[in-house]
Amino acid sequence: MNAPDSLAHSDVAYQFHSYTNAQRLREEGPCIMAQGEGIYVRDTEGKQYIEGMAGLWSVAVGFSEPRLAQAAYRQMQNLPFYHTFSQKSNVPSIELAEKLISLTDGSMAQAFFTNSGSEANDTIVKMVWYYNNALGRPEKKKIIARHRGYHGVTVASASLTGLAGNHRSFDLPLPQMRHVRCPHLYREGLPGETEAAFGDRLAAELEALILAEGPDTVAAFIGEPVMGAGGVIVPPHAYWPKMQAVCRKYDVLVIADEVITGFGRTGHLFASGLFGIEPDFMTLSKQLTSSYMPLAAVLMNKRVADVLVRHSGELGTFGHGYTASGHPVAAAVALENIRIIEERGLVGNAAVSGAVLQRRLHALADHPLVGEVRGVGLIAAVELVADKVGHTPFDPVGEVGALLVRQAQGNGLILRGIQDSLAFCPPLIITEAQVNTLADRFEQSLDEVTRAL
Ligand code: PMP
Repeated sequence: MNAPDSLAHSDVAYQFHSYTNAQRLREEGPCIMAQGEGIYVRDTEGKQYIEGMAGLWSVAVGFSEPRLAQAAYRQMQNLPFYHTFSQKSNVPSIELAEKLISLTDGSMAQAFFTNSGSEANDTIVKMVWYYNNALGRPEKKKIIARHRGYHGVTVASASLTGLAGNHRSFDLPLPQMRHVRCPHLYREGLPGETEAAFGDRLAAELEALILAEGPDTVAAFIGEPVMGAGGVIVPPHAYWPKMQAVCRKYDVLVIADEVITGFGRTGHLFASGLFGIEPDFMTLSKQLTSSYMPLAAVLMNKRVADVLVRHSGELGTFGHGYTASGHPVAAAVALENIRIIEERGLVGNAAVSGAVLQRRLHALADHPLVGEVRGVGLIAAVELVADKVGHTPFDPVGEVGALLVRQAQGNGLILRGIQDSLAFCPPLIITEAQVNTLADRFEQSLDEVTRAL
């Protein structure tokens, strides 16, 4: 418990936390953040940390960008709220939709806005169902996702998420959802298997599943170009084109969930371009506003949009939308955030600072506890193992990872432990010198934990 007692007690008493062991929160109390500046945050005791996860993979421009505050204030003074129901609109949401489509070079045609990535993926599930109903294919409804994939926590998006903790005790997944193998060569590869052979095998497994289910029942395939919350899994380069070819063969829509990878995280504006994905839908959020405001976008290509437009005409409406869809304050903040990303060359910076991050972390590959180092641009993970040769995980899984997260936090570095993988995803503004400080703090923490074990 780092916080003033009364605040901590109130937090434990009155707030039910996201993704928290509520019992342990009662025993140990919260770490309450009070301020942010650049890549740093400061808690209520005054201790400063490098936010090595950019909050939740999201604060691209850092924690103290005045232009985003001003953009929100200006929009609140002009028009604090207006919706997009029943043929109404507002200026920032129009400008943002046009901007997002232009950033995809026109490969996407229209944008639909939600508050969160989860709602965006739920919206895509409903759009996929609506699309196939419009085309007179009421059986074509199943959606295939991947084990260890993360797509959110609402009922449909949690069903797409391929993590046991999001299903267990929640009566999920929904019966329409299926999961295929995670493209992680280190954990899922056969002895001696090449990246190319691994890609072939996963595409063959996808095809076998589609055939077993019946191609007339499979509507879409969803994946993050690079998996985030599942442990930062960078697929082999051969993977996406092969998976996509199988989808095209059976008229299965491709959904690229770029909630983490969008807006430069990998050193490319969108990771779909990097991996050769030509999606029918894209999900964007997080770095869209640097998380200063809750906002997500569903982008769809012309093929999909034309069908949805026609079917809404036949039915009399598109019966879906949120009070805050296209919220003008969130959209104004997103527009300013994208301007900053462009003006400051933050996509290029993710490539440059990212190269330093990857080099520093790969230098730890020979460390006795390090099984695998992986990543691209400014997203990375270091996986710890009990035995390097056999890739043997620790037993129980996650304890050493949690220990290292706590040690790093003590050393002024916030990371995320995903089982025994430590995830890195700092703000896109991070400099090369700051990456070196981050890596120094990590190395020190790793050595301290190694000595303690
Ligand atoms: N998709 C991906 C790839 C994500 O990483 C996340 C959030 N971590 C989501 C969807 C869900 O977004 P939200 O938490 O805003 O609902």
